Amino acid sequence: MSKRVLILDDDAAVGQTIRFTVEAAGMEARAVSDPDAFLRLVDAWEPTHIVLDLVMPQMDGIEVMRLLAERRTSARLVILSGVGTRVLDAAHRVAAEKGLRILGVLPKPIRPARLREVLQRNNDDARLAGNHRERGAAPPVTAEDLKRAIEEDRFFPVFQPKIRCDSGEVTGFEVLLRWRHHDGQLIPPDAFIPLAESEGLIGELTRLVLEHAIDWLSEPGPTESMGLSVNLSARTLNDIHFADRLARRCRDAGVAPHRLTLELTETAATGDPVLALDLVTRLRMKGFPVSIDDVGTGYSSMAQLAALPFSEMKVDKSFVMSAAHSQESRTIVTSIIELGHNLDLDVVAEGVEDEGTLEFLRNHGCDYVQGFLIARPMDRRRTGEWIARRG
Ligand code: C2E
Ligand code: CA
Ligand code: CA
Repeated sequence: MSKRVLILDDDAAVGQTIRFTVEAAGMEARAVSDPDAFLRLVDAWEPTHIVLDLVMPQMDGIEVMRLLAERRTSARLVILSGVGTRVLDAAHRVAAEKGLRILGVLPKPIRPARLREVLQRNNDDARLAGNHRERGAAPPVTAEDLKRAIEEDRFFPVFQPKIRCDSGEVTGFEVLLRWRHHDGQLIPPDAFIPLAESEGLIGELTRLVLEHAIDWLSEPGPTESMGLSVNLSARTLNDIHFADRLARRCRDAGVAPHRLTLELTETAATGDPVLALDLVTRLRMKGFPVSIDDVGTGYSSMAQLAALPFSEMKVDKSFVMSAAHSQESRTIVTSIIELGHNLDLDVVAEGVEDEGTLEFLRNHGCDYVQGFLIARPMDRRRTGEWIARRG
């Protein structure tokens, strides 16, 4: 049976582009930008697949999913969005709960190859994709699992290098948390950080990561002058003693604060600007660099970003990873680099996966890069070796 793919995107040009991609892969496709026309076609044309933009001005994607669930459509769904992964994850869960069959969730801008790959997935896999994250197929975890894992010390850090864009010099690493589940599987942070946040356990995890970070920073050897970046949760904003405690801890361990960068996402920073201003200012006054992470996903204005005394800006990886294929992404990346430099911040691009993108970033004056092209996150004992090998 041939596949009929119905696309709903409020941006008609985007819809048409997706339609061409789908048709080029030998499937029938129609694209509409209006929800009413869309629902009429769902009934009349009976698509086998639906590609749905999550964020539209006249109607939101969640509402469309509700209407599709009501119609008990058997079409497989591919959800698109430029919003952050946490929102995408939530939308994924909403759709699965409503009994819709999700083939995949793709960040915007769309990579054509990725879209074709998702649409060609075997239908039998659809239920599975609906119940698990597209990336890891991690087992579902509960708050109880999480508590036990903390008690059993099942979390460990991995380290991803950060290099200077122009010279390739390694300047430090970012610490990322991993959970080794008792069935042996590695659970990625996207599968447990939101749960830890909602269960009030994130403070525990932040402390744990910071202890690992301070320990790594105290180690003599090839990394002794390097920096380390740690991710903070939005929940840290409510902890008014955080900056004091961290400064004291670093002093006791003999770690210079300028070597420890704290990363706060754009969404967290602009979601509560008063608390963010308080935390960022305290941290900077104690000598810690503070980075604004995932820039481009939060729709912040220049004024909002300029109001907070950050030292560094990180372009969200979704734009960097798609820069090789998408003019739109390249425009966003160069605008963020320019914005960062105008605010006198260092700019980091993460998610660099190919030489062409690295070259592009270098030509546009990006300061630092991270990404699979340079190295995937690695175990602690490998960080020294990796630097030695790079020479
Ligand atoms: P993030 O802070 O934006 O971290 C970057 C993520 O991108 C990491 O995923 C990293 O492995 C991945 N990445 C880096 N380069 C590439 C690349 O070239 N291609 C691709 N496809 N991916 C790349 P990871 O480790 O799964 O972490 C996901 C998110 O979980 C992090 O995003 C961060 O928001 C959160 N996270 C991780 N560790 C912690 C933590 O200790 N505390 C808190 N609060 N959040 C954490
Ligand atoms: Ca980060
Ligand atoms: Ca990021």
